[in-house]
Amino acid sequence: MTAQRLPRHDHYIDGAWVQPASGAYLPSINPTTAEAWYETARGDATDADRAVRAAHAAFEDPGWRGLTPTRRGALLRRLAELIGEHGEELARTETLDNGKLLSEMRAQLASLPEYVHYYAGLADKVHGSTIPAYRAEILNYTVREPLGVVVAITPWNSPLLLTITKLAPALAAGNTVVVKPSEHTSASLLQLAPLFEKAGFPPGVVNVVTGYGDEVGTPLVEHPLVAKVTFTGSTRTGSRIAASCGSRFVRTTLELGGKSPNIVFGDADVANASVGIVAGVFAAAGQTCVAGSRVYAQQDVYDEVVERVAARADAIRLGDPLDPATQLGPLAIESQRDKVEEYVAVGRAEGAVTVAGGSRPELDGLDGFFYRPTAFVQADNSMRLCREEIFGPVVAIMPFGDEEELVGLANDTDYGLAAGLWTRDLARAHRVASRLDAGTVWVNTYRSMSPMSPRSGFKSSGMGVEHGTEVMGEYTRLKSVWINTGEGPADDPFVLKS
Ligand code: NAD
Repeated sequence: MTAQRLPRHDHYIDGAWVQPASGAYLPSINPTTAEAWYETARGDATDADRAVRAAHAAFEDPGWRGLTPTRRGALLRRLAELIGEHGEELARTETLDNGKLLSEMRAQLASLPEYVHYYAGLADKVHGSTIPAYRAEILNYTVREPLGVVVAITPWNSPLLLTITKLAPALAAGNTVVVKPSEHTSASLLQLAPLFEKAGFPPGVVNVVTGYGDEVGTPLVEHPLVAKVTFTGSTRTGSRIAASCGSRFVRTTLELGGKSPNIVFGDADVANASVGIVAGVFAAAGQTCVAGSRVYAQQDVYDEVVERVAARADAIRLGDPLDPATQLGPLAIESQRDKVEEYVAVGRAEGAVTVAGGSRPELDGLDGFFYRPTAFVQADNSMRLCREEIFGPVVAIMPFGDEEELVGLANDTDYGLAAGLWTRDLARAHRVASRLDAGTVWVNTYRSMSPMSPRSGFKSSGMGVEHGTEVMGEYTRLKSVWINTGEGPADDPFVLKS
């Protein structure tokens, strides 16, 4: 198949499909077959400018600005219904684009209407307060205002889930948005984009531009009309965005990488904990920011944990993610599979030993970017294997002695996104959870998520919050208004009133 025959997707700006200013397009590769299956607009600074200006004009327009928060909530509710109606086709698109299991993408898509409903409900519950700040004749109150144009930049691993997580609260708060999805997985968002207008959002409130980060992402981040950048992706890119925005006082929310510990105490249900380890690092081929890629098992259960995880890893069925019997699909992009392969070589060179996986699988008829789920032993925290985010199905299983040693090992990382804890001892669960440097701690479960529960990254895993009511503060600015209702003589101009 030649590139010219592939379906083409343009940018979505101001309610219309817009060809890229450069006329250039990028192929998107299906990671299961390693074949291109569509082309998407290769955006640049001209496209970024056009999208931001459309979003800015929509923000200033009474058609959006004049809507009551309750009405914004109603539009979001209609959007949630439309996402529900289109869930199956969106899930299939995501599987073709990033290679994750259709069953997993269906579950993610099925949860999206709940995310949108949650923020629809919050739209008219975000408000300020009155403050007894001064004298009786002074009325002081606060208001929460939308920020303006929000740029949302997202990665390839869960395209719509990570986008809706940003869009729903941003729109509920009254902002307008330009989204730049990953250059590897733009299709589902481009399918979703027209549904915003169908739900009743005015054109220009939601815009999508596609392409490479340095070509269209950077001009979006640096655009003078942008009030906020909300980003999910690697710590490296997040740090660049933070530096650029910080120098211009543009707000950011950054959800970045991780190297999360998954901890098994001697008193745990080891069978369940082993399933939790597999779910934490092998599900989605380890391409989750919260991958539990460092496992610490207490000495007395260490051998059993290694045995169970290795046996389970070797039994995982790799294959076509559209096939319901498949348990593990390919990595989403070729360079990601190569990166996993490199890290396995690095781990071996550092002295760690594989007890499962460690190579590409032989799969009849599938030329995609597959890698076998891989477990290492004889590893320690000094190794790159245990310090750097791999974002693939690779885990290091390490022993520990007591709780004190464990806390030191678990926190010995640049990251602080998530941690898992397996124990039957409730007092220990509370104690250890309070000492872990991680924005999310799961006890006797892993990878649980809800729109109601805040997520944040500590240390190099990010800044700001997503999910929960707290996120509304990320998409609004707080203004304090003072009104003197008194009619007496003016105050002494040389004395500050407090
Ligand atoms: P990435 O940082 O390479 O790219 C993410 C997005 O940023 C893409 O859309 C990309 O085009 C864009 N981008 C790249 N350079 C840019 C620049 N200079 N300016 C503006 N935009 C730019 O990340 P990725 O490889 O797509 O995704 C994997 C990473 O995402 C992992 O590190 C993973 O941990 C992280 N992630 C974090 C979370 C979370 O909630 N913390 C969730 C999912 C993924």
